[in-house]
Amino acid sequence: MSMKEMISGLVDKYFDDIQLVNDTIWEYAEPGMKETKSAEFYGKFFEERGFKVDMGVGEVPTAFVASWGEGQPIVGFLGEYDALPLLSQEASCAEKKPIVEGAYGQGCGHNSLGAAAAGAALAFRDYLKENNLPGTVRYYGCPGEEYGSGKVFMARNGLFDDLACAFTWHPGDMNQVKASSSLACISAFFEFTGVTAHAAANPHLGRSALDACELMNVGVNYLREHIVPEARVHYAYLNAGGIAPNVVHDKAKIHYFVRAPKIKTAQEIFVRVQDIAEGAAKMTGTTMQMHFHEALSDCCNNRTLEKLMHETFLEIGAPAYDAEDFKLAEAFRNTFTDADKADVATALRDNGMDPDLIPMDAALHTDILPYVPMDKAQPGSTDVGDVSYCTPTAQCNVATVALATPGHSWQMTAQSRSSIANKGNAVAAKVMALTAAKAIADPELLAKAKEELVKATGGKYECPIPAHVKPTL
Ligand SMILES: [Zn+2]
Repeated sequence: MSMKEMISGLVDKYFDDIQLVNDTIWEYAEPGMKETKSAEFYGKFFEERGFKVDMGVGEVPTAFVASWGEGQPIVGFLGEYDALPLLSQEASCAEKKPIVEGAYGQGCGHNSLGAAAAGAALAFRDYLKENNLPGTVRYYGCPGEEYGSGKVFMARNGLFDDLACAFTWHPGDMNQVKASSSLACISAFFEFTGVTAHAAANPHLGRSALDACELMNVGVNYLREHIVPEARVHYAYLNAGGIAPNVVHDKAKIHYFVRAPKIKTAQEIFVRVQDIAEGAAKMTGTTMQMHFHEALSDCCNNRTLEKLMHETFLEIGAPAYDAEDFKLAEAFRNTFTDADKADVATALRDNGMDPDLIPMDAALHTDILPYVPMDKAQPGSTDVGDVSYCTPTAQCNVATVALATPGHSWQMTAQSRSSIANKGNAVAAKVMALTAAKAIADPELLAKAKEELVKATGGKYECPIPAHVKPTL
C-alpha cells in the first residue's frame, strides 16, 4: 500500500469524527478567547482518542495542546475554533436566516479549520503507530484568531519552538497552497482625557478629548501618503465622548489597527502613529494614554514545505463534489453580487495567475491552482504568521464553499456546515497528514526547511506583543 493510500484510508476512517467536530464547533460559535465550550469539547475529544491534553497553555484558558507519542520529529497541526459577531445563520440555507439575531456564527469557517486539522492529527498518529515510527503528533488548539492573537501568546511561551514543522489550512472557495505572505498587524487603543465644561458658557475652561481624537485621525490620514502603499491603517471610535454637543467631551477613546507587509515596518509606522497621538494631545491640552492591545507577524513562507504540500495536494486531488453539492453552491451564488463574482478573477491576478484559470460561471472550484510563490503579502492578517517564525510552516486553502463566497459572511457560516464543507475537510486533512508523513520520511528536506527559516529570521522569533501585555480574555 502506498503512503497516499494509507493516509487516505486513515482520514476516511475518521470522516465521522471530523464531521462531529465540524458541526459541534459550528453550533457553539463562540467569540475569540472565550471559546470555553469548544475547548472543553476538543479536550475530551482528544483524550478519548488517546491523546494527552494540556489545557490553558500560553496564558489563555481556551488554548490547549493535545499530544501523542514521544521524541523527535515533532509535527504540529494548527486548529482554530473562534467565531464572528452578527453572523449567526441556518446551516446549508441559501437565504439569510439567523438562528439567533445578532449572535455569533462561523463566518470564517474556523469550525472546519479545526475539524480537518484534528482529522489530520488523528490520521498521522495512526500512521506513526501502524508503521512503528518514532515521533510526536501535536494538535494545537489555537483560540482567538479573529480577535485575541491566541497563537502569538502561545508562540511567546515557546510552544512551537521544538517542532520539526507545522501545518494548517483555511477553508475557502479555492484549492491551492498558500504561496504569499499576510500582513503583520498591531492593535492599540488611544485614550484621551480632557476637561469638561459648558460648551457655550465656559468653552475656554474645557479641553476636548474628542477634538484630540479628530486631530489624531487627521494626522494619521496625512501620514498615509508617506508610508508604504501596502500598509493599512484603520480606526474605530470606541468612545466619542458622549451625545451632548453642549458639553465639552472630557473622555474619548479610539481603536487603531496598523498593518504592513513586515512586522518591522508595522512597528515603525506604529511609532509614528503614537507620535501623532501625542501631538494631538499637545494641541488640545489633553492627556493621552496608549494601551497596547495585540499584534501579529507577517507569514514567513517556507518554500521547501510549500512545494512538498503542493505536490501532495496534486496527488490527493481536489474534492470530488456531487450533483447535490453543485446545486447547493448554485443556490448560494444566486445571493452573490456581480462584484463578488468578478473578485475571483482579481484574486487570481493578485496571486500572479491567469484570471481565466477558473471559469466565471463555475459554482465550485474543482481544480488545484498552480504553485506560484510570491514575495508579497495578501491584504489580510493571521496569527499563523507567528508560528511560521518559530518553525517551518505550510498552509493550504481547500474549497469548502461556493466560488466567490465572500469572507466573513452569512453565506460562509451557512456553508461551513454542509456537504460541501465535509468533502473539503476530508481533502484538507489528507493533504496535511500526507505532507507530514512525507516530511518526516525525508530528514534532508526537513533540514532544508529549517535552514530556510533560519536564513529568513536569523533563527530567532521576536514576539511583537510587549512582555507586559496580557491576553484580552
Ligand atoms: Zn479565518
